[in-house]
Amino acid sequence: MNKETVVSGIRSTGNLHIGNYYGAVKSFTQMQHEYDCFFFIADLHALTTHPTPQDLHGNVKQVLVEYLACGIDPEATTIYIQSDVPEIAELYLYLNMNAYMGELERSTSFKDKVRSNPDNVNAGLLTYPVLMAADILIHKATKVPVGKDQEQHLEMARTFGNRFNRMYNHDYFPEPYAFTYAKNLVKVPGLDGKGKMGKSEGEGNAVYLSDTPEIIRKKVSRAVTDSGPTSEFQEKPEAIQNLFELMKIVSSEDTLNHFEEQYNKMAIRYGDFKKQLAEDMILTTEPMRVRINEIASDTDYLSKVAKQGALKARDSAQKTIKEVRELIGFRAF
Ligand code: AMP
Repeated sequence: MNKETVVSGIRSTGNLHIGNYYGAVKSFTQMQHEYDCFFFIADLHALTTHPTPQDLHGNVKQVLVEYLACGIDPEATTIYIQSDVPEIAELYLYLNMNAYMGELERSTSFKDKVRSNPDNVNAGLLTYPVLMAADILIHKATKVPVGKDQEQHLEMARTFGNRFNRMYNHDYFPEPYAFTYAKNLVKVPGLDGKGKMGKSEGEGNAVYLSDTPEIIRKKVSRAVTDSGPTSEFQEKPEAIQNLFELMKIVSSEDTLNHFEEQYNKMAIRYGDFKKQLAEDMILTTEPMRVRINEIASDTDYLSKVAKQGALKARDSAQKTIKEVRELIGFRAF
């Protein structure tokens, strides 16, 4: 059996939102039975925002709970915490030697972070794509289930892997590519009418898997709309288009078609539209919400999963690091 290897992770900077779920985690749960999968909680990446020790620990636990609640099966896959595998940090160091300032500064996500957080432009932020490359290359993965926002990072991971191969004249790391079961990589919009759903995009923009029905109803009712279409088949402004995109993700085709038709006839009532959207979001997140509450209190189970995952992930990572060290020239006398 020669199964391809899959790696993907989520930063432990807060609860999972439906963007994380539909962009990445849902694909993980589908891939786990077909591929050799490694799913991790990116707590090293989370350090760029300087969390307190309590917050860091609490968030790692929360993401672990939510991964499991989404259906990731620790028996079928390897689920681990990034900081439990020090070989990743070692590979990150090696890859950093061949990652250049210019290309790192040009990364879209780095430029966004500099714009949104000019007081905390640290080296970890700049080399974020190198750490991500190390996460993937450490298991020699070829498939990475991620949302559209990660496409450029995957390209950088290929660049760093290929550069290593050329430098040491060895076809060692395979090329990793972003993967989705959908036609295109997914970008789930937020509720603020502007861009993607994200943890750091401001209050009310994201709907979390752990949100109660009341919170979801409140958030969706506050989503940005306008005064309605003024001509038939009018092109939708971004905020309205985003809500339709969300409906496409969580609602049935009939529901979506009904509201599309209402919009095209200029008969749409945004109140009804948003009520339906909220109810469908509640319905799709309900099973996960229930499981989150069940799993969160089972500390013994969580500890067992994390330990078992760390062992399996280290086993794979140690094999790679041993070979990488050899290629670089760290050899015994
Ligand atoms: P992050 O929350 O930034 O650590 O992202 C973790 C994973 O969720 C990555 O695979 C992202 O591509 C994916 N993701 C985050 N936000 C979205 C979104 N709004 N739409 C689609 N995928 C997303």
